[in-house]
Amino acid sequence: MTTNRIPPLPDVDMPFIFDLSRPGRIACSLPACDVPELAPEERIPAALLRTEPASLPEVYEVDVVRHYTALSRRNFGVDNGFYPLGSCTMKYNPKLNEDAAKLPGFSGIHPYQQEDTVQGALELLYTLQNDLAAITGMDRISLQPAAGAHGEWTGLMMIRAYHESRGEQRTKVLVPDSSHGTNPASASAAGYTTVTLKSDARGLVDLDALRAAVGPDTAALMLTNPNTLGLFEEHIAEIAAIVHEAGGLLYYDGANANAIMGIARPGDMGFDVVHLNLHKTMSTPHGGGGPGAGPVGVKLLLESFLPAPLISQRADGTYFFDDERPHSIGRVKPFHGNFGILLRAYAYIRSYGPSGLRRVSECAVLNANYMLSRLSAAYDVPYPRICKHEFVLSGTRQKAFGIRTLDIAKRLLDFGFHPPTVYFPLIVEESIMIEPTETESKETLDRFIDVMLRIAWEAEHEPDTVLQAPSRTETARLDETLAARKPVLHCDCG
Ligand SMILES: *Cc1c(COP(=O)(O)O)cnc(C)c1O
Repeated sequence: MTTNRIPPLPDVDMPFIFDLSRPGRIACSLPACDVPELAPEERIPAALLRTEPASLPEVYEVDVVRHYTALSRRNFGVDNGFYPLGSCTMKYNPKLNEDAAKLPGFSGIHPYQQEDTVQGALELLYTLQNDLAAITGMDRISLQPAAGAHGEWTGLMMIRAYHESRGEQRTKVLVPDSSHGTNPASASAAGYTTVTLKSDARGLVDLDALRAAVGPDTAALMLTNPNTLGLFEEHIAEIAAIVHEAGGLLYYDGANANAIMGIARPGDMGFDVVHLNLHKTMSTPHGGGGPGAGPVGVKLLLESFLPAPLISQRADGTYFFDDERPHSIGRVKPFHGNFGILLRAYAYIRSYGPSGLRRVSECAVLNANYMLSRLSAAYDVPYPRICKHEFVLSGTRQKAFGIRTLDIAKRLLDFGFHPPTVYFPLIVEESIMIEPTETESKETLDRFIDVMLRIAWEAEHEPDTVLQAPSRTETARLDETLAARKPVLHCDCG
């Protein structure tokens, strides 16, 4: 027998998890409770109790797994593809770090445990403090801050405490116009007024502008070196002398130390305080807002102001929380920092060792220069010389055809690449800031470069392709400002 009726076309989209819900379906079964149960009112204040049960989907385990796996595929991470996000050091996160973090001796401990039961964890933190001091050329490190910006604020609070201890009221923090936005923000949060220094024609701190800006009210100069243009401040020794002569201190924004490890140290360049982003340089995961780790390191003159407790070692070799620090600015993070992140960074540093970390930096710089050299065939290069771990292009040539940097970034999505940083640093028109990191193969770099060259060709010959991008992604072009300001985080599922 044949049927004449055409069967309905099944929906190709995955069913929505709430549509799969049927009363009584479950994904797991919990054993019966074997401790006396309290009535809900005895556990939670009556005012906070629900009056009716939450409306959650009742589904099978496999449906839950498919739901979350499908959602995770709509996200982009360094395990999905190349992520050349300048100033962010989106390097691969080695799985070895995760194995170390999973060891039961680490994953099973509690921050309230007695010191003598967590000597191994304290030894790890103590060794990490010393390793980071050796990498940065600083005398002492605090692992507490949870992010780069948090490290900046911690550093500035120590600078404030230092000046106050000498009876000086200094009110101004100097930052170059190429600085990361967190620098002026942290300075404001620490109660300072920021003074912006303009860069010279080569993209470096303008020494005359610096000389004109420093004075008895200068608390500090914040600098990242190499700066956000990927350029090394060649006059760093002179810059340090100018600031120190005026009685100010030097703050090193070491969020991206990926160009200097094992080669140059902020401590040797004249900096008094630094922060590092372990979630950038030291390969611990980031994105989505954390957790991160932004340890701060200081020279001896600031040591007594470090957040307490530090991890110290007694003469008998045991480790302890060093709380007796009367001049400390206090605790900046509950417990002992983001221990799981510190542990991953430790695993990274130890698996490379000193010569391996140097090699990391050398390869990061080599990769960046390789890309810069090939891409300069089609894109303007505002500061055309050897770069460090990252470099900045300008989309001005493409702008002449009506294609903006934003359009180029959107078109990259069609080829499975995360776009580079765009429109930062602010001093470059239509800026495109690329940081390949050391962890990418030449094949990946070449594919990205080929796509970028192709987009430059499209901009000239078929601009609509670029203007309408992305066309191969889950959703078409979004209004990212609206998406960030007014995110729709729930579904109207009835
Ligand atoms: C990422 C970054 C920061 C801020 O670090 P967060 O951990 O995001 O707070 C500061 N400075 C520079 C140069 C950076 O790249």
